[in-house]
Amino acid sequence: MDVVPTGMRGLRACLLCSLIKTADQFELDGCDNCAEFLPMKGNRDMVYDCTSPSFDGLISLMSPEDSWVAKWQRTNRYVKGCYAVSVTGELPKGMRQDLKSRGVIYKSRDTSVKS
Ligand SMILES: [Zn+2]
Repeated sequence: MDVVPTGMRGLRACLLCSLIKTADQFELDGCDNCAEFLPMKGNRDMVYDCTSPSFDGLISLMSPEDSWVAKWQRTNRYVKGCYAVSVTGELPKGMRQDLKSRGVIYKSRDTSVKS
């Protein structure tokens, strides 16, 4: 199933995988890539914690298996959809620690902050 934003209003990008959807879509379905780690489904607060309305560059990933975007973003395991090149913001500290304890390497895509 392709995941395509249903509109340009209220778009947000997942802070973990950069998938772009509307806040409503995130609340309805959670993040298609991060459902295991970021329980956003049905939880508006989590949606706002784990996604950012501020992002740059929208790339459309329609054939993750062989696209140059997939190779560049290392997203060949991700669902088809729209992804942000950079996302401003960070997951809450508690979330980052939780991810770390699960062995997930979270790298902020916020290019405006030096890590
Ligand atoms: Zn995600």
